[in-house]
Amino acid sequence: MNEPSVKGKQPRVVDNTSNFETIIIGCGIAGASLAYFLAERDVSDILILEREEQPGYHATGRSAAVLVELDLVPSILELKLLGGQFLRNPPSGFSDNPLLQKSGILITFQGPLWEQARQMVPGLKQSGVAVNILSQEETVSMIPVVSPENFDGAVLLPEDGHIDVNELLWSYLKHARHRGAQLRCQEEVLSIRVDRERCFNVITSAGEYRSRWVINAAGAWAEKIRRLVGPSPVQLTPRRRTIITFAAPDGLYVKNWPLVADLSNALYFSPESAGLMASPMDEDPMAPCDARPDELTVAQTIERLNQLTPRLVPKAITNKWAGLRTFAPDQAMVVGEDPVVKGFFWLSGQGGAGIETSPAVGRIASGLILDGRTRLMDVRPISPARFTD
Ligand SMILES: Cc1cc2nc3c(=O)[nH]c(=O)nc-3n(C[C@H](O)[C@H](O)[C@H](O)COP(=O)(O)OP(=O)(O)OC[C@H]3O[C@@H](n4cnc5c(N)ncnc54)[C@H](O)[C@@H]3O)c2cc1C
Repeated sequence: MNEPSVKGKQPRVVDNTSNFETIIIGCGIAGASLAYFLAERDVSDILILEREEQPGYHATGRSAAVLVELDLVPSILELKLLGGQFLRNPPSGFSDNPLLQKSGILITFQGPLWEQARQMVPGLKQSGVAVNILSQEETVSMIPVVSPENFDGAVLLPEDGHIDVNELLWSYLKHARHRGAQLRCQEEVLSIRVDRERCFNVITSAGEYRSRWVINAAGAWAEKIRRLVGPSPVQLTPRRRTIITFAAPDGLYVKNWPLVADLSNALYFSPESAGLMASPMDEDPMAPCDARPDELTVAQTIERLNQLTPRLVPKAITNKWAGLRTFAPDQAMVVGEDPVVKGFFWLSGQGGAGIETSPAVGRIASGLILDGRTRLMDVRPISPARFTD
């Protein structure tokens, strides 16, 4: 991937059609969801700029795409609960197909993590989440390949499961475009000029536009985008996560399994079209890039399957991929107007929960942009101002 550079570029002359109310940089799930919620509030003057040939090419298109309404970071849990409501009951006509398949999530825990997880269950139930605690025996009878030596107990979320990320992404875009939002792919933002405190000129590989709001929805590149307007108050770290797919072992019916995550030993696996997928839950920090799986991590995945669920060790890998999950130091998202550059809005740091939280984050961001506030949650834990206060 080329580094942004304006050297030698001659931007197209600005004309009247180059003025926008809102420019969104990046068309992953974050940018698409904000375009949808702004358009729902009758903002049609939106331009979405995406460097790649198609939306969702990076983290969004590589995710495991599950809804898991359990999280140790309180603000992420709150956003997941809000996101889950939308995914289960989207507005009428929003999508052609269901967004959520309630295939279930089963998480096993050991030691102090198990205590922490158990303490969260009453609060989850109070919030309306369907959640059951399973003993070692109950867990093994449901998923016969796990071994009780590796966990003390499990939490089952039977109403959670796989999100149709393609359907979600394209439904956001379909409605936003229907209401006037424009999407331009293969157009990279190279430079941003701040002018008269609130207005920006955004210079791309194809031209120059003026906008009142500039939204930083650039995923792993978000910190780089912020640096285009000055030193960034927020440090974001992209971390690679790898997934492999393989055939299920002969004689084992896996299609009705939930996604099974062993948080204490860092492995998850789940049914996937013709077979199974697995991830070693790797978190290697790296510079923003078109992430690829590396052989060592793939080998570690097989090794971990061998240790924890030897029956699942594949004869051959049918596919593998990797993507970047981007985190702020405190693991919470970064959503809100920049504390220094007015009109520059962060929609970043979605980490490992950007798909499931997108209906909540998009709506919250649209409220902050249009009304300067939101009633949905206390946004202080996700505000970029927390890094300068
Ligand atoms: C293996 C894996 C498993 C995951 N599992 C889950 C899960 O189960 N549930 C869940 O909710 N989330 C999951 N995630 C996380 C989720 O995928 C991300 O949080 C989410 O996709 C982030 O979306 P985004 O729009 O911020 O970023 P992206 O999808 O990366 O989009 C950012 C876009 O900005 C564009 N861009 C960058 N710079 C420029 C520029 N200068 N000009 C124009 N365009 C630019 C990029 O090309 C890119 O398309 C997973 C991620 C991975 C990698």
